[in-house]
Amino acid sequence: MKLSIKAKIFISHFALIVILIGGLSYHHFNNEMEHYKGTVQAFHVASSHSIVSTFSLAISGENYANVQLPEFKDELRRNDKLLCIQAEGISDYSSTKYIARYDSEIGEVWRAFYPEGFEDQLTQQIDKLKKILLKPKKDNVKVEFLIQRAIDAKEEYFLHHEFNQQFKEKFENLFAKSQTFIDSERQILFISLPTTNRNGGEISFVYDISEISEIQKGILRSVLLESVLTILLSVVLLGFLSYKITNPLDKLSNYIANDFDSLQVNNVPGADRSDEIGTLSRSFVNLLAQMKNYVNRLEQLSKNDPLTGLLNRRAFDEIFSHLLTRPIEKKIGVLYLDIDNFKKYNDKYGHNAGDLTLQKVAQSINNSLQRKGDYAFRLGGEEFSVVLSVEDREQIMSIAERIRANVESLQIEHFDNSNYGVVTISIGACMKVTEDDNVDALSMLDNADKALYEAKQNGRNRIAFLSS
Ligand code: GH3
Ligand code: MG
Ligand code: MG
Repeated sequence: MKLSIKAKIFISHFALIVILIGGLSYHHFNNEMEHYKGTVQAFHVASSHSIVSTFSLAISGENYANVQLPEFKDELRRNDKLLCIQAEGISDYSSTKYIARYDSEIGEVWRAFYPEGFEDQLTQQIDKLKKILLKPKKDNVKVEFLIQRAIDAKEEYFLHHEFNQQFKEKFENLFAKSQTFIDSERQILFISLPTTNRNGGEISFVYDISEISEIQKGILRSVLLESVLTILLSVVLLGFLSYKITNPLDKLSNYIANDFDSLQVNNVPGADRSDEIGTLSRSFVNLLAQMKNYVNRLEQLSKNDPLTGLLNRRAFDEIFSHLLTRPIEKKIGVLYLDIDNFKKYNDKYGHNAGDLTLQKVAQSINNSLQRKGDYAFRLGGEEFSVVLSVEDREQIMSIAERIRANVESLQIEHFDNSNYGVVTISIGACMKVTEDDNVDALSMLDNADKALYEAKQNGRNRIAFLSS
């Protein structure tokens, strides 16, 4: 497939722009997302500090009651992004393990760690108290209260056990690593913070960050819009640029494709530019100037006779035909001129002298023409022709006579020229009489030749006329 320079510039730069903008947009998108995640994380970490201190105190004193107070639970429930909490540590007070959990779906904070055999202990305690109850005593009320408390504690134990089950199903695998991270797939933020109690511990929070997908879509949308707009703008600029580069080239090549004769050195497009196209254009101007020069010289050579410097037969055909086809007010006349007895001249004075005489006669004929638009030709040998714009027979005859007399007045010795003693010429004249005469150059020249024959017949060194 052949591609224009314009297309090549456009396609290659377009590909480059798409790759660059694609890469930048991808980078931009990731940056925005990272920035958002960082902000969300920082926000939730900051909002978790008061909860951390409450739980740290609770761990320190192995206290589950404080974290189960309605005000505290309300505080947790108010945070609708908070999914769950697990506070784990070693009590400063009893050095026992402490785990409390919160689940927003359950809406409760509960004790999540019970020592081994806790349930059995309660069962035994209840049995023991029930036995005490069988013996009639005064403070039965207190025993009954103790039984009820143990039963409540057991129920609470079962309830917490159930909560633990639910909690594990939902969140267990998240607590495997003790570090802060975002799970984009599950759209959650996991935060792990150390407790402030002496024996240490860790509080983990799970936050719902499902808005991340909306934010992600929003960022993606704006990044895409940005890149599409940038690409569109680049395409417009690129189109303009490739047009700017290739348009002058197109202009130059279209100009060069014109006909040679219509090319002009001062009309070449782009020659005034200061860039590479300007250099190319100026090189072409130089080339064109040289070619015009050569063509002119060739034309000169092809139209001029080298011996006499007059226009030659080829130029006669061209100019005379052209004059005949041109609508003109004046009539066209043609003279056929021939040196008299020139063979004899050559024979007597030699060929070199003949050439010199030919030059002198030619010069004389040419000098006899005073008006612009009159042309003298050497048709060949010692024969010449003159093409004139004339008004009537008298005018053509007077010009012919002037030429004839001028040649005679050169006084070039020619003893064998009848009894004239000098070089003379005979002239046949012919003219186009009516405006709409449809005569061609050749037939006019023929008639002039016939007139010339007549002049020769009548004794040479004279003029004969034949109208066309
Ligand atoms: P006429 O008066 O009937 O024209 O007789 P002419 O001798 O001039 O005519 P012809 O046609 O018999 O001879 C023409 C001569 O012109 C023949 C040739 O020697 C001479 N001639 C033709 N061309 C040249 C040329 O270039 N140089 C020289 N020196 N002579 C030439
Ligand atoms: Mg002749
Ligand atoms: Mg002759």
